[in-house]
Amino acid sequence: MACGAICAEATRRLGQPIGVWRDLLSAWWLPVALLLPPLYALVAPALLGLFIYVRVRHGSVYRRAFSTAALGLAGACASVLFHALTPVTPPGQVALWLSYPGPNAWLLRPHPAVVAVGCAVAFAVINACLVAIAAWLVESDARLADMLWDRERMLLDLTETCLGILVTVASALSAVLLLVTLPPVLLLQRSLLHSQLKVQARTDAKTGVLNAGAWQGEADRAIGRALRRGEPLAILLADVDHFKNVNDTHGHLTGDAMLRSLAAEMRQQVRESDFVGRFGGEEFAILLVGTTAEEACRVADRIRCGVGVVRVFSHEKMVGVTISVGVSILGDHGRDLNELLDAADLALYRAKSQGRDRICLFDPADMTSRTPENEPAHHS
Ligand code: GH3
Ligand code: MG
Ligand code: MG
Repeated sequence: MACGAICAEATRRLGQPIGVWRDLLSAWWLPVALLLPPLYALVAPALLGLFIYVRVRHGSVYRRAFSTAALGLAGACASVLFHALTPVTPPGQVALWLSYPGPNAWLLRPHPAVVAVGCAVAFAVINACLVAIAAWLVESDARLADMLWDRERMLLDLTETCLGILVTVASALSAVLLLVTLPPVLLLQRSLLHSQLKVQARTDAKTGVLNAGAWQGEADRAIGRALRRGEPLAILLADVDHFKNVNDTHGHLTGDAMLRSLAAEMRQQVRESDFVGRFGGEEFAILLVGTTAEEACRVADRIRCGVGVVRVFSHEKMVGVTISVGVSILGDHGRDLNELLDAADLALYRAKSQGRDRICLFDPADMTSRTPENEPAHHS
């Protein structure tokens, strides 16, 4: 408990990422679960959860309560399992299970260290499943499989589990050894926080897609790669039609919910290797790698149709919008990001003037449409 509190305190000043975030505090729960009776594993997370709520993060109570309950339940399950599978160890002799009899005994009973590893995995899996299901219930448009099988998350869970096992072994040998495990856990926790803050700095908080700066960085790199390899590449610039009306009629919160749903829909419609970014207010920029003009127009139209059926509930009314999309192609319409954005912007301008809810591929004739009084200012 003290180690967990020290970890929480030590990372407090670094600042916390918003939304769902990960810490390595579970490393301290495994020794509680395996070395103490199950009741401790059930209750201990609540105490530290309260501490974190008061000292570190006054987030929503239900979230803290949920993650604490998930930890408690997972810990109690692991604890019951471990105590059922290993012989009773009298108090004060917990180190006994580390010095287990000879290899023959393997056939009869698994080595307690093996049971401990199994229980550690069970702990991680139960906790991850409980949290993933809750996150999925909140964000119903995400797929449960994506919530469960995220590579980054798996790596983190594995690290946390290994760390927990090492801390358990150390504290089974001597409580003093906990002091030795504290600095490495602290350092890992700090670097984890750092990497989460880095991801957050690239993400648009309102919509969850890349922010303008991060998108431009990725786009610049992708264009450089495409030029070197001679591969096609397309840029789409999408602008929501009459979005001001949505705000004026249904309020800005509905507008924000709409932007979030549109961004999720756009992400769904493109491949993992493409980049979706929020360019400005209600404008999104999408980079499609390895995509020709014909394919880009098809994808753009698919996005337009997909967005057209997205609905957001506002005061028991369903609200929907349409988008206009401008498309430009690397090589044909520009050789760097600025030229491509400019071309996509002009095509978007034509899509708007032709009646909206449509896609337009850049045409050199669009250049003449830019006169001082009707100049579009989409990426000033
Ligand atoms: P057009 O079809 O010509 O694009 O019409 P429009 O109303 O979408 O265009 P306009 O540029 O006049 O208005 C854009 C609106 O987008 C105005 C602004 O209130 C709204 N907007 C920009 N950013 C946000 C945001 O983050 N949240 C919400 N709710 N609204 C936003
Ligand atoms: Mg706009
Ligand atoms: Mg608009």
